[in-house]
Amino acid sequence: MSAGFRCPTCRTPWRGATVCPRCGSDLAAVMRVAHRAWELRETARVALGAADRVAEALGPAQAACRLHATPRGERLLALALLATGRTAPARALIARAIARDPDADGSAADTAT
Ligand SMILES: [Zn+2]
Repeated sequence: MSAGFRCPTCRTPWRGATVCPRCGSDLAAVMRVAHRAWELRETARVALGAADRVAEALGPAQAACRLHATPRGERLLALALLATGRTAPARALIARAIARDPDADGSAADTAT
């Protein structure tokens, strides 16, 4: 849940505390939103893992990204889009992820041996 999360006031990386150790901001409300996004991603993951419930993954995956976009959440959304036949938006999402992090396409693993 903490991937990429930073204090909205001072931008210090989140360290699991409800109060920012650097500026003292109360992070409880932001943490609740991030936690809800995590719950939605879990719902999407479970649906994607059940062959007869794949279509139920898309809504939670989209809602999670609206609440708290993370690289893994965007990959989950791309998978949900692909699983429901929405290839164009999935392709656009994947292209944006690769543009942001060129190693995210898995090609680095091919040369790591
Ligand atoms: Zn702070």
